[in-house]
Amino acid sequence: MKTIKRIGVLTSGGDAPGMNAAIRAVVRSGIYHGFEVFGIKKGYEGLLSGDMYEMNLRSVSDIMSRGGTILQTARCKDFNTQEGVERGARMAEVFKLDGLVVIGGDGSFRGARDLSRVIGIPVVGIPATIDNDIGCTDYTIGFDTACNTVKDAIDKIKDTAYSHERCSVVEVMGRGAGYIALHCAIADGAEACILPEKSFDINTDIIQPLIGCRNRGKHHYVVIIAEGVGGTMDIANEIKQITGISTTTTILGHLQRGGSPTVKDRVMASLFACKATEVLKNGGGNCVIASKGDEVIAIEIEEALKMTKKIDEHMIITSKMLSL
Ligand code: ADP
Repeated sequence: MKTIKRIGVLTSGGDAPGMNAAIRAVVRSGIYHGFEVFGIKKGYEGLLSGDMYEMNLRSVSDIMSRGGTILQTARCKDFNTQEGVERGARMAEVFKLDGLVVIGGDGSFRGARDLSRVIGIPVVGIPATIDNDIGCTDYTIGFDTACNTVKDAIDKIKDTAYSHERCSVVEVMGRGAGYIALHCAIADGAEACILPEKSFDINTDIIQPLIGCRNRGKHHYVVIIAEGVGGTMDIANEIKQITGISTTTTILGHLQRGGSPTVKDRVMASLFACKATEVLKNGGGNCVIASKGDEVIAIEIEEALKMTKKIDEHMIITSKMLSL
C-alpha cells in the first residue's frame, strides 16, 4: 500500500450550496490525517492547466456559510477525451498528487475514474448537486438548501396569489429528476406537480385537480413544474384559457443554486468529506461516498456509476392527497 502524502481536491460540474463545507472538511480532515492538501481551481480545467495551490487550516476559514465554491467549478470539454485525461494524469504527476477528491456529480466521477485508470492513484467522489439525482446515494449536497430556497419563494408567491385569487405556475430546477419539485409540492401544498419522470396529461393532472380544488372552496392554486418537463409558459397559457383563472408564471432559475447552505447541507458535506479522507487514509479509493439510511458509506466507483434511483411513488400520492 502506497502511503499518501499529498491529495488534490476539486469541485466540478454544476455548483451546489454546501460545496464549501465539503472543501473545508476535506482540507481539515486531510491535514488531520497528515496529508498535504492541494486545492485545484475550476474543476478539471485547473488540473489540466496546473492551477492548484496548497491549502492550510486557515485557507478554509469562514467559507462554510457561503454558497458556491471557493475553488470555482467548470465543465471541461477537454477532459472528456482520452488525450485530455492523459494530460490531466501527467499534471497530477507533476504536482505529485497521490490521491484526488472530486466533489460533483456522475460526470465528474466518470472523469475521476478515467484519471485513475491512467495514473493509478486512488480517487474518491463526493456527491454534490441540488437535483439529488445521483443513483448511488439517498442524498446529495445542496438539495436541502435548494428546496428551502424554492419553499421561501413559493411562500411569497402564495401570499400574493391568495390576495388575487390566482393560479401560480412555478418552474423549478430538475432537468431529469423531479426531487426538488416533489419535495416542494409537499412542503408548499401545491395543487399540481409535474415531474420529468412521469408523462402527464394537462386535463387529468392539472385542470381537473384545479377545478376540483376551486369547487371545494380554494381561492388560489400553485402548480409546480420541473424544468425538464418543458413548455412551462404553454402550460400556464392553457390553464388560463381553459379555466379562466388568472394565471402567472415564475421561473425560479439560478437563484435555486445560491444561498447560505442549510444545517443539513453543512453536516452532510462535512460527514461525506471526512469519510472521503478516511477512505484514502486507510488505503482505499476509487469509490463514491454515499448516504444510505443513517449511514455514510463508500461504494466502489464503477458500481456507483451504474446505480439508479426512482422517484418515490408514495410521495407523489401523498402530495396529491394533501392538496385536495
Ligand atoms: P456533473 O459532475 O455534475 O454530472 P458534468 O456531467 O457536466 O457534471 O461533468 C463535469 C465534468 O466532468 C465535465 O465537464 C468533464 O470535464 C468531466 N467528465 C464528464 N464525463 C466524463 C467522462 N465520461 N470522462 C471524463 N471526464 C468526464
